[in-house]
Amino acid sequence: GFRSSSKLLLVFSLSGGGLLAYSESQSNSTAKNTEHNQLTNKKKVVVLGTGWASTSFLKDLDISSYDVQVVSPRNYFAFTPLLPSVTCGTVEARSIVEPIRNIMKKKNGEIQFWEAECTKIDAANKKVFCHSVIESNLVGNKDFSLEYDYLIVATGAEVNTFNTPGVMEYCHFLKEVEDAQKIRRSVIDCFEKAILPELTEEERRINLHFVIVGGGPTGVEFAAELHDFVHEDLVKLYPMVKDLVRITVIQSGDHILNTYDSRISTFAEQKFARDGIDVRTGCRVLGVSDKAVNVKVKSTGESVSVPRGMVVWSTGVSTRPVVKDLMDQVGQGKRKVLATDEWLRVKGCEDVYAIGDCATIDQRKIMEDIAAIFNAADKDKSGTLTVEEFQDIIDDIIIRYPQVELHLQSARLSSVTDLLNDPEGNARKEVDIEGFKLALSQVDSQMKSLPATAQVAAQQGTYLSNCFNKRDLAKITPEGPRRFKGTGRHEFLPFRYKHFGQFAPLGGEQAAAELPGDWVSVGRSTQWLWYSVYASKQVSWRTRVLVVSDWTRRSIFGRDSSRI
Ligand code: FAD
Repeated sequence: GFRSSSKLLLVFSLSGGGLLAYSESQSNSTAKNTEHNQLTNKKKVVVLGTGWASTSFLKDLDISSYDVQVVSPRNYFAFTPLLPSVTCGTVEARSIVEPIRNIMKKKNGEIQFWEAECTKIDAANKKVFCHSVIESNLVGNKDFSLEYDYLIVATGAEVNTFNTPGVMEYCHFLKEVEDAQKIRRSVIDCFEKAILPELTEEERRINLHFVIVGGGPTGVEFAAELHDFVHEDLVKLYPMVKDLVRITVIQSGDHILNTYDSRISTFAEQKFARDGIDVRTGCRVLGVSDKAVNVKVKSTGESVSVPRGMVVWSTGVSTRPVVKDLMDQVGQGKRKVLATDEWLRVKGCEDVYAIGDCATIDQRKIMEDIAAIFNAADKDKSGTLTVEEFQDIIDDIIIRYPQVELHLQSARLSSVTDLLNDPEGNARKEVDIEGFKLALSQVDSQMKSLPATAQVAAQQGTYLSNCFNKRDLAKITPEGPRRFKGTGRHEFLPFRYKHFGQFAPLGGEQAAAELPGDWVSVGRSTQWLWYSVYASKQVSWRTRVLVVSDWTRRSIFGRDSSRI
C-alpha cells in the first residue's frame, strides 16, 4: 500500500517512464491502508536506513508475510570497506554503490522505499516522522509519517568530533561516499595550489602536509592509500614538489591499529616508518584552525601547533540525534549508545529492534540478570542448588547469553570447579549460589561490547530477518532458551556473533589480516587474500565487475588525477 500523510504526492510512473503527480486525501489514504492490511493481514515493518544492517535484513526477509517500507536519505547501499580506495581514485565511487531499488526487487512482492530522513520515532504510538531530503523546488509536502507494527532502526552512527573546536569547519571526514569524493578533489587541490607560482617553499610544504587524526583502521588505510597515490602517480605529474609531501598520522593511544593483534600494529608501524609516514602516538588534538592542528603531547604535556594542508578526521563514531531522542523516550537517556537485549529488541519499548552501529547489546545488566535467574531458581531460599539444577541453569545461561560463554568457561575452570567440589576434591551435592555469583562478577569486567563493524551489522540483519521469517512457527515451536521471568521458552535463540577476522590494507600491495583462531598474516599474499575477499563480498555481480575492472585499470594506467 502507498502510505503517506502528505496530501500531494509525486511518484515516478515506471510504466510510463515519466513524472506523474496525483493528489489523494489523507483520510482516504488511511482508510485504504487499513482496509489493505485487514485484507492481507500483513504486519507493517518499517526499516530505517540502507546500510549494512538494513540491507542484509531486507535481502533475506520473506516479504510475503510483511508489508515493508524502507526510509533512508540515501537511495543506495555503499560498500564502506572500499571507501578509502575511493579517496584516491583506486576505485570509482559508483563501483562501490548499489541502488537500493535493485536490492529490494523481490519476486514475491514489493518493498516500498522512501528517500527521506526519519526525524522522530514515536515509540509509544508506533509511528515514525520523516522529512524528504531532496533539495529541489519540486512541488509537494516534504514531511510525512508512517505507522508500524515492527520498527527496525538501522541508522548507523555519525562522526564523533568530541566537540573539538574547528573540526566541523576545517576537517574532512571519511564516512560517506560524498566524503571520499570530497577528499579526492581536495588532495588534487593541495597539489595544484602547491605548484602555483610565487609561493614560498614553506607555503608549498604546508599545503602538501596531509594530517590524519585517528590511527584506527580507517585512518591507517587512508594514509596508506594516500601514500600510494602520491608515490605511484602524483610525483610523476608534479615532480617539482615531490620532496615536499608529508603524511602524518596523529593517534592518541600508544599504537596505531590498537584494536588489532599487537603483531599487526607493530608491522603497520614499521611499514609506515619505512614509507616515511610520520606516526605521532600519544598525542591528542586540542583544536584545528584554518592553518594548523593544535596537538597536545601526552607525555610532556606541551602543546604544539602543526601547520597543515588537508586534515582528515577519523576518530570514531557517536549516536545520531534521532536515536538519542528515542533513548530519552524509552528511559535510556543516560546511556551513550542505544541498548538492546540479546534478541536485538530495544530495551524499554515494544516491537522496536535496533541493529548495526546505532545500537549495542547491553552487557552491563547480564550479571544482574544471571543473579536474578539463580535467585528465582532457589525456591526454598536455602542459598544452594543441587548440582543438577545448577548445571541446567548454566546450560541455559550459555544459550541465552552466548557472549558470556567463553568467560563462563574460564570461570568454570577455576572458581566454579572449586564450587562444585569440596576441599578434598569430592563432588558436592549442592552449590553455593553466592560463591558462584562472586566468581561470575570477576569475569563481568572482561566482557566487551561488539565492535561497530560491517561484519556485526550484516550478521545482525541476517539474524533478525531469520527471526521474522520464523515468527509464526516459533510461536508454536519456540527454539529459544527457558524464560526465567515467566513460563515456557523464548521464541528464538539469541543473536550470536561469529568473527571471521579483519583486514588492514597497508599500501604498496601489502596487507595485514587477523584470522579466526589467533592467526595473523601479513604481506603481499595477504593483499591478494584481501582482493579476493572484497571482490567476493560485493553485493551484486555488477559492482563486483566494476570493482575488479577498477583495480585492473589502476594497475595498467594508474589513478586518474583530474579534479572533477
Ligand atoms: P550504515 O552502513 O552507516 O548505514 C546507516 C544507514 O542509515 C545509511 O543508509 C544512512 O543513510 C541511513 N540513515 C542515517 N540517518 C538516518 C535517518 N535519520 N533516517 C533514516 N535513515 C538514516 N567494517 C568492517 O567490518 N570492515 C571494514 O573493512 C570496514 N571498513 C570501513 C571503512 C570506512 C571508511 C568506514 C566509514 C567504515 C568501515 N567499516 C568497516 C564499518 C562499517 O561501515 C560500519 O560498521 C557499518 O556501515 C555499519 O552498518 P549500519 O547498517 O549500522 O550503518
